[in-house]
Amino acid sequence: MIAIGIDIGGMSIKGAAVDSNGRVYDKFSMPFVKGEPGERTIQQLAELVKDYIVSQHLEGKIAGIGIGSPGTLDVEKGIVNYANNLGWNDLHVAEIMQQTLSYPIRLTNDANAAALGEAKFGAGKSYETVIMLTLGTGVGGGIIINGKLYEGNQGKGGELGHVVVQVDGEQCSCGRKGCLEAYASATALIRETKKAMYGNKRSLMWQISPEIELVGGKVVFEAAAKGDKAAQDVLNNYIKYLGEGILNYCNIFRPNVVVLSGGIANAGAALFDPLNKYIEERFYGYRATPEVKVVPAELGYDSGKIGAAALFFK
Ligand SMILES: [Zn+2]
Repeated sequence: MIAIGIDIGGMSIKGAAVDSNGRVYDKFSMPFVKGEPGERTIQQLAELVKDYIVSQHLEGKIAGIGIGSPGTLDVEKGIVNYANNLGWNDLHVAEIMQQTLSYPIRLTNDANAAALGEAKFGAGKSYETVIMLTLGTGVGGGIIINGKLYEGNQGKGGELGHVVVQVDGEQCSCGRKGCLEAYASATALIRETKKAMYGNKRSLMWQISPEIELVGGKVVFEAAAKGDKAAQDVLNNYIKYLGEGILNYCNIFRPNVVVLSGGIANAGAALFDPLNKYIEERFYGYRATPEVKVVPAELGYDSGKIGAAALFFK
């Protein structure tokens, strides 16, 4: 079985044919032109996909076209209700695609697509129930239960970044306070790193990144590994909040595995060892319940494409 998987982003739209073993064919992409009407963008995408299917000799072999998009979606109707980063409002993606392409079209949230990709063919491939968290500018996520993506009513569930881990805590982008996103995103880690640097003028973090405006997510890991106390405090605090968020998912879903993606998930043992220890020591019914391992994602930038295509795989 072969399906087309498409990943819509604020810079470009990328896609590929993917087979039901997770094999990715030649990729295609087009730039995302900001300010262009969404309808025109989707028409161009449909033409691109049509040409691609011909060039790959896949006519008649495609089970469907899966699309992962950021924003608030109505997955049942194939509509992007609102996507701030794309400038899209009430865009009928599936309907516009279908003017050019006669294959079934399915739309899902980009984080859900990535989660499904990792669950089926990446770090979660040996498991039935998988939670994925993407630690980026925000915190996105996806829930796969018994091998199936759980999207909630109209596909609007699975907002794993917006569980509160600190009542009246840090301001979140969603309008509430204390969400996991406000503590576990890369943005939050950088905010806390800068705060710690201002409070500790002799911290090693200043040597690693003398320009505080250029501080990224790696500074704190590098300084902590070299024994810098201020950096270790930031990292421990980060792990505490991320751990508490993951514990909530463990206690609700009891997944086999929790997969982390995004730049921070490349930190390796410095992140995963203390995080797994934090979780092991705390989850409900510890010792009497199955272990939940937290592991890094494996598919990188392909996870969204693969997962969008996997919407058509059993
Ligand atoms: Zn929030």
